[in-house]
Amino acid sequence: MSDTEFDIIRRYFMRQISNRRDVITGIGDDAALLQVPAGMELVVCMDTLVDGVHFPTGTPAAAIGHKALAVNLSDLAAMGAEPAWVTLAITLPEPDADWLAGFSQAFFKLADYYKVQLVGGDTTQGPLSITVQAHGFVPQGTALRRQGAQPGDHIFVTGTLGDAGLALQLRGDAGRELQQRLDFPEPRLAAGQALRGIASAAIDISDGLLADLGHLLEKGRLGATVFVDDLPRSVAFTEAVQRHGAQFRELPLSAGDDYELCFTVPAELLQQLAVAQAHFSCSCTRIGTVEKQAGIRCYTADGEGYALNARGYEHFGVLPHG
Ligand code: ADP
Ligand code: MG
Repeated sequence: MSDTEFDIIRRYFMRQISNRRDVITGIGDDAALLQVPAGMELVVCMDTLVDGVHFPTGTPAAAIGHKALAVNLSDLAAMGAEPAWVTLAITLPEPDADWLAGFSQAFFKLADYYKVQLVGGDTTQGPLSITVQAHGFVPQGTALRRQGAQPGDHIFVTGTLGDAGLALQLRGDAGRELQQRLDFPEPRLAAGQALRGIASAAIDISDGLLADLGHLLEKGRLGATVFVDDLPRSVAFTEAVQRHGAQFRELPLSAGDDYELCFTVPAELLQQLAVAQAHFSCSCTRIGTVEKQAGIRCYTADGEGYALNARGYEHFGVLPHG
């Protein structure tokens, strides 16, 4: 390790404060030494953000610092896990003090909010790329999985869809609210944890609702009906689509950058869901139903069926029992 690398670690990533007793040794040794609480399963995930691929070149350092952690916490949320520890591999073209300050401040702001501790990492020189590995816990046997949905289960999503995707499309012209949704996504950790024992399956929406709902259904070779007019849209989204054009209106189905949760709930647990929702700290909307017949069928409120293609919605008929 060179002097500059050590300096960067010491100045920006090594902190004296620790609010976790399960960290026996954090940054500074050859590896972190960690205590998994008794009765808990360890949940581990990793995501890489590459400059120009996962965020536009020139994205503010604070947004990258927040997002690198948030996308990982979102994966833990989708498993119903409580986050605990993270490691961070950072590759930088050069040690830019302003950039590192902006990045690390936003990273730690989010980490502190969820009492997550940075316990190690790697610092290297090269094209800008950030990898975070996150570790969390679930009580044994309670993790939410992609597999488990059954025909008849109701399909829900948290928050609103399409905001971040629209900000990405409008390239800085989207207004503060939508831009915030793209740059500072909020991991739905409270919702994920509250859904343990209630959701039959869950996933975070990182590739778009249709793609990720597809992942929930594919293992059981199931299908779904989705009511497109019921997809939750923010006021900012609706106004921006009115201003900028109808070509963006399918984004709630296709855009992935909101990091909301999509989950299924058996009819007999809807009452429990209503109770659990008080702990979500975000909204939650029913958007459809799981069905035996494979494929995702989208309908508008008046029973019109639509198929999504590259140009947007395409009419394909009317819901038979509409
Ligand atoms: P080694 O050479 O033994 O692999 P390093 O010199 O890479 O160790 O790292 C020294 C210590 O600093 C280790 O505890 C490592 O986990 C930590 N570390 C390195 N880079 C980072 C980073 N970006 N964020 C947090 N911890 C880091
Ligand atoms: Mg070593």
